Amino acid sequence: MTKGQEYVKRVFEQVKADNAHEAEFLQAVEEVFDSLAPVFDKYPQYIDDNILERLVEPERVVSFRVPWVDDQGQVQVNRGYRVQYSSAIGPYKGGLRFHPSVNQSIIKFLGFEQIFKNSLTGLPIGGGKGGSNFDPKGKSDREIMAFTQSFMTELQRHIGPDVDVPAGDIGVGAREIGYMFGQYKRLNGYQNGVLTGKGLTYGGSLGRTEATGYGTVYFAEQMLASIGHHFEGKTAIVSGSGNVAIYAIEKLYQLGAKPIACSDSSGYIIDENGINLETLKRLKEIERERISKYLDYHPEAQFVPTGESTIWTVKADLAFPCATQNELNEDDAKTLIANGVIAVAEGANMPSTLEAVTTFQENGVLFGPAKAANAGGVATSALEMSQNSQRLAWSFEEVDEKLYGIMKTIYENAAAAAEEFGQPGNLVVGANIAGFLKVAEAMSAQGVI
Ligand code: GLU
Repeated sequence: MTKGQEYVKRVFEQVKADNAHEAEFLQAVEEVFDSLAPVFDKYPQYIDDNILERLVEPERVVSFRVPWVDDQGQVQVNRGYRVQYSSAIGPYKGGLRFHPSVNQSIIKFLGFEQIFKNSLTGLPIGGGKGGSNFDPKGKSDREIMAFTQSFMTELQRHIGPDVDVPAGDIGVGAREIGYMFGQYKRLNGYQNGVLTGKGLTYGGSLGRTEATGYGTVYFAEQMLASIGHHFEGKTAIVSGSGNVAIYAIEKLYQLGAKPIACSDSSGYIIDENGINLETLKRLKEIERERISKYLDYHPEAQFVPTGESTIWTVKADLAFPCATQNELNEDDAKTLIANGVIAVAEGANMPSTLEAVTTFQENGVLFGPAKAANAGGVATSALEMSQNSQRLAWSFEEVDEKLYGIMKTIYENAAAAAEEFGQPGNLVVGANIAGFLKVAEAMSAQGVI
């Protein structure tokens, strides 16, 4: 074993012992650590600085009570979180997730990933994440407002435009950001840079809504170009039907591909004519309906309920997991490969299990890991922060052009790092190393912090 391998192994054993019950967090850490041994061999000073053991410990974890009153007049309580993971390169930045599965492990895995993702964007943003185990499904508008106002009543004391800037994630979109922004303002006065993903009438950025999905497809375009391919005439599976999936589908159409399947937690649909984007947007962005409703408008499509088979059994050239963590396992990867998939780009955070990733890589499938491929959302959040600081609003084209440039640079930096550290084509290793190096250098420069 090299010195680097020994160091990484020793720290990971400690992380496992200290966080034994946090499976998702350990998975995210393992994926990053697996890439880093050669970095420590090249830069042994980072072992002396003990960068890894410091980096893996969040600067701060806040957990709090969120009491609210439902439409029946019952008092409800949820648990809120904000993990301020690393401010080495800028203020904490990362989304808020409202979903019943949220716990400390989930928020820590997301926060940890966010450090490297944000570093990769090339913009000065540190890593953070937050959320609650609140389930927005089936809640009235009034209940959403009651909950988000209570959530912000506590969160506001921990955030600020130069301190920590939350945004959306699963279960948190423009409506929730709007209510939280309003509540922050009542408590602290107007600070337009305190949240991103805001509405366009009060400091939001054009292009932010589309950014994660568009960015993932821009990233995949670079992956395909590396083997002389393009989107024209290719079919795609896009799991999920939230913000990331919808705008991945939109951009795939614009670039000549045909998305034929998408999903929600109730099941998936296949439409061999291509998913009708207008119907999907209406069902998901306006009516907040289940995906099976799609068949009311397009009876030639098929609906397969969850449990019967997964969306990964659909035959297509490209796969974009854009739903949630661990939605694609080793068996799914094998099925996709048997069906001839060429490229997989992750729009969600950690959607593929570690075994699935290895399976793709061992079988020559182009694989774009989440922290690189879905960085377009947070990158555009940073562009929103810039516009807020300048008190300017850029055009859609200006933002989109910057997003495209950022995604291309992330691809190039990840590919170059993979090459430099002896694993050409391995974008998992490349993204982890490129993201890590900037953070490590910043930490080292700032002393023992
Ligand atoms: N939740 C998104 C992510 O996973 C965006 C975060 C942000 O815009 O701050 O990167």
